[in-house]
Amino acid sequence: MQKTPITKSEPDERGYWGKFGGRYVPETLVAPLDELTNEFMRARMDPDFREELNQLLRDYCGRPTPLFHAERLTAHAGGAQIYLKREDLLHTGAHKINNAAGQVLLARRMGKRRVIAETGAGQHGVATATVCALFGLRCVIYMGAEDVRRQALNVFRMQLLGAEVITVNAGTRTLKDAINESLRDWVTNVHDTYYLLGSALGPHPYPFMVREFQSIIGREAREQILSASGKLPRALIACVGGGSNAIGLFHPFLKDEEVRLIGLEAGGRGDSLGQHAARFHDGTTSGGGQIGVLQGTMSYVLQDANGQIATTHSISAGLDYSAIGPEHAFLHDSGRAEYLRVSDAEALEGFRLCAKLEGIIPALETSHAVMPAIRVARELPRGDSVIVNLSGRGDKDVQLVADLQAQ
Ligand SMILES: *Cc1c(COP(=O)(O)O)cnc(C)c1O
Repeated sequence: MQKTPITKSEPDERGYWGKFGGRYVPETLVAPLDELTNEFMRARMDPDFREELNQLLRDYCGRPTPLFHAERLTAHAGGAQIYLKREDLLHTGAHKINNAAGQVLLARRMGKRRVIAETGAGQHGVATATVCALFGLRCVIYMGAEDVRRQALNVFRMQLLGAEVITVNAGTRTLKDAINESLRDWVTNVHDTYYLLGSALGPHPYPFMVREFQSIIGREAREQILSASGKLPRALIACVGGGSNAIGLFHPFLKDEEVRLIGLEAGGRGDSLGQHAARFHDGTTSGGGQIGVLQGTMSYVLQDANGQIATTHSISAGLDYSAIGPEHAFLHDSGRAEYLRVSDAEALEGFRLCAKLEGIIPALETSHAVMPAIRVARELPRGDSVIVNLSGRGDKDVQLVADLQAQ
């Protein structure tokens, strides 16, 4: 455990935040990951790269996104003012394009002509296929067979965008199997291939690099809330799958110790292992995550007594993953950020309430943040504010909710 409060959260040169992070990969990937790290470090200091990225984010993706004062949700809560950071308004419907845009420019800079990516529900696959279409790069997306079946429409979208979607039949045929296949492809084709990883996960430099590309969310939100209310918010609230939208909002506020950072994990259907994706489980039952390695990084991982990776469940595909990004593990253990569990049922309640009160249908991932935001706001005076990261729009989930309602 960290003793001193964190005013800064930077990994060391090997990509560790305390004991979390690092690079647990086959020997053949060490040199490519070093090359990627060096190229990223150079690019982020290069004014030309920054200008190119800013332009892409502005003219193609739709940044800056608004910080919307949700007055009816605020009235419903009866406390602090609730603001929504509208990442759902971005091109392709979620924050994932921020990262895809940054990394595709890096791939071009490195002269790579082929881009590969993993996808679970298909959101990251669509974002990657989109930026590859824009720049005329070959795009291959790995997706578990189970997800291909569940997300047929997103598979078709990726194909429309010119990507090749490869179905993965290994393991549980979901996201982690797709990540394994992507890593395998990368090992083989690293000379001409860029691996565009989709969350703040994986071996160094990905967790750091993805955070940097997503931190635009928090930088904008900080400026916007200061100009709207004249002071910092009391809390930031975001759902946590791998952790990219949450860390993107949190990071520019880490030094502001008075701002609570609250991450929401998928509580699913219950506390027992296999029924949720809450890696920071309190450990009072058999359902908790333990420190371990998954997909190249050391973090909290849901696993059984034998160290086998546990299956997970969430109503939202984007939160349905057995590990969490290493920086969140660090922020959790140091006490700087708090992580709560939100059940499927409560996420559905948030989904409906946000639609009814604000005319905004959030993604089911995002919906995990709505009810906790109301509870947090209720405890605070009206003169204060909280910011909810509206990570994505819910169009993709409407059919699923309709089917649930019909049952
Ligand atoms: C993918 C996704 C998430 C979860 O991913 P993070 O890396 O944790 O942000 C959350 N919300 C939406 C809308 C998503 O598409």
